[in-house]
Amino acid sequence: MHYLDNSATTQPCEAAVRAVTEALANWGNPSSVHHLGKTAADALAAYRRTVAKTLGLPRFSPDKLLFTSCGTESNNIAMLGCAAAKKRTPNADGILGTIIISAGEHPSIDNPAKRLADSGYALVRVPTTGGVLDLDALKTALETAKSNAAPVVFAGFMLVNNETGAVYDVKAASSLVKRYFPDAVVHCDAVQGYLKLRFTPTTLGADTLSVSAHKIHAPRGAAALYISGEVIKRKNIVPVMPGGGQEDGFRSGTENLVSIAAFAAAAESGYTDGEQNRKTVAELRAYLNERLAELAEYGVTQNIPKGRQLAGIASIVVPGVRSETMLNHLSAREVYVSAGSACSAHSKKKSDALTAFGAEDDRIDSTLRVSLSHTNTKDDIDALIDGLRSGIADLQKK
Ligand code: PLP
Repeated sequence: MHYLDNSATTQPCEAAVRAVTEALANWGNPSSVHHLGKTAADALAAYRRTVAKTLGLPRFSPDKLLFTSCGTESNNIAMLGCAAAKKRTPNADGILGTIIISAGEHPSIDNPAKRLADSGYALVRVPTTGGVLDLDALKTALETAKSNAAPVVFAGFMLVNNETGAVYDVKAASSLVKRYFPDAVVHCDAVQGYLKLRFTPTTLGADTLSVSAHKIHAPRGAAALYISGEVIKRKNIVPVMPGGGQEDGFRSGTENLVSIAAFAAAAESGYTDGEQNRKTVAELRAYLNERLAELAEYGVTQNIPKGRQLAGIASIVVPGVRSETMLNHLSAREVYVSAGSACSAHSKKKSDALTAFGAEDDRIDSTLRVSLSHTNTKDDIDALIDGLRSGIADLQKK
């Protein structure tokens, strides 16, 4: 098997698998007051410290790191919790405030934003043509929000686009938002950048930030949401799911200790080996680029961002072959990639991220996403190239 779909999910690492078995024995409820509960609560606190360390958070600070079930939940808690936090006074046009996001965000940001737009907020998507966040357009949006008395309540900028691998300048966007609206919550969906790039919420200027376990070689079922002490102090986020008050009240529901244990183990190992892993992926990417160049004679190209691209994500265009057709051809050879992102593959909808990137329709139709991990080898890339070559011979329209 040649698994090259690591942005969709990753194979659990040994440390995560071991942590699952160990945590199954620690099955108490962390909220119980007796000894079994206390043991679970101590373990939970240790897992939290581990993940916090990987995000560069100081041990003692008013910031919060909440465990959630997935990146989607973290993103929703941040955005919907922020919108619900304050009573908003509508402007003369009945607008409650402005939500800004980048164009081509993951649906877990774009869809809650649409919901807020339906409930009375102005929604602005900042263009990301060529894989670059358009800061001039952001400035214009901020000025419009100011002059319309529709203050920016929430601004969400992903760190790495999950389809193109484009790395956005979140820090610059955050500084700009704060210059106009110091009270706005700036959120970063860092799901695809976590442990692949070096950052902390502070270096990104993020008030809230999401990461997800299953993208870093842990099984699914756990994720985290960082909330800055300042946001907590200003009460700029309220819980969206009332319940028993776990996770400081922001995410009720008994904590999933088994998944969280695996998350912490994978995070620790990915953090410790971070430098080496990033080096391995960069070398694999260089090799992939080199091998893809051999297919240039068949018109094979890549969607290359004008700015920075994550080494682990390649967006490859094989003209004249629909991505789904090529994906199936590769799958039959046990080479696993995706067409755009895994979540949009079943929807038949044209990829928002590639549209926002500025790719024409026929390129979007023929784009494959290849996503690498440090666990891959040159062998996997050779198998991909062989598969593409035979797919082109069989399938490419002459
Ligand atoms: N944000 C980005 C950029 C993603 O790529 C994904 C998943 O692919 C998510 C959020 C959602 O994460 P999860 O699958 O943990 O809900």
